[in-house]
Amino acid sequence: MRIIVPIKQVPETSAVKMDPETGTMVREGVEAIVNPLDLYAIELAIRLCEQAGEGDHETVGISMGPPKAAKALKEAVSMGITRAVLISDRRFAGADTWATSYVLKAAIEKLGGADLILCGERATDGDTGQVGPGVAAFLDLPVVSYVSRLEYVRDGVARVHRLVEEGYEVLDVQLPAVLTVVKEASDPRLPTLRGKQRARAMDLPVWSVDDLDVDPARLGLQGSPTRVVKIFHPKVARACEMLVASDEQAAAAAADRVVAFLQQRELI
Ligand SMILES: Cc1cc2nc3c(=O)[nH]c(=O)nc-3n(C[C@H](O)[C@H](O)[C@H](O)COP(=O)(O)OP(=O)(O)OC[C@H]3O[C@@H](n4cnc5c(N)ncnc54)[C@H](O)[C@@H]3O)c2cc1C
Repeated sequence: MRIIVPIKQVPETSAVKMDPETGTMVREGVEAIVNPLDLYAIELAIRLCEQAGEGDHETVGISMGPPKAAKALKEAVSMGITRAVLISDRRFAGADTWATSYVLKAAIEKLGGADLILCGERATDGDTGQVGPGVAAFLDLPVVSYVSRLEYVRDGVARVHRLVEEGYEVLDVQLPAVLTVVKEASDPRLPTLRGKQRARAMDLPVWSVDDLDVDPARLGLQGSPTRVVKIFHPKVARACEMLVASDEQAAAAAADRVVAFLQQRELI
């Protein structure tokens, strides 16, 4: 069994800053980490291979990003991912979700395909949740999003629980397939010392445009159909009225005021 985990390196969420002039994210000088939601996919992949026992099983982490994204892949290896490939070339820069999915699809094909492709629910920076389904569409594979539990993989079928508004659906999906997983799907382990040593010593292959079977016109900014027309912070227009009550009489008056306010807006 081969499980491929696409991993994105993102700026540490708490440290994200926006450039007030251009409205774009300032990535320089910001700590880069593994997309936190990808840790659940990594853990699930490792655990599935462990449960599969003896045999020819492997987990492969792939990331499209700048050379520093190697750190994210090494972290995945230190957790227990078998091997990793970095897809890095200046010609990929500026890719939108369409171009990113297209490149990841080409990398997955070069790896010889997979039984399962496990993506995070979404990346904490781009936040679209489109890349997993995009990869599935390019590979013409079934996709299940918001997977909160993988019950089992048996006879070429995965039984999964998929979060929906009212609870969850139980689905059987034919493999190979793409799953995007949510936090509930697993409990990510910490990297081990042995894993860290393995990650430090590993040879990380880096694939460029020339290593993949891709159409150069469909890459990077020029191959991206999405156009960012405007980025802005939504204005929060809220009027706040403070009711201070220091004795019982004032508290009763404040409560009457709140009731009148809610009635006036037909909220009660
Ligand atoms: C015109 C344009 C230019 C852009 N230029 C850039 C740019 O230069 N640099 C940049 O970082 N972003 C750029 N973006 C944003 C870019 O679209 C997204 O960062 C990227 O395509 C992934 O989308 P997302 O972050 O919404 O991921 P999501 O779809 O939310 O991610 C879901 C899952 O997909 C997988 N995944 C996502 N991205 C990758 C990846 N790169 N490698 C491996 N797995 C991945 C992960 O498993 C992740 O959990 C640009 C967007 C536009 C519209």
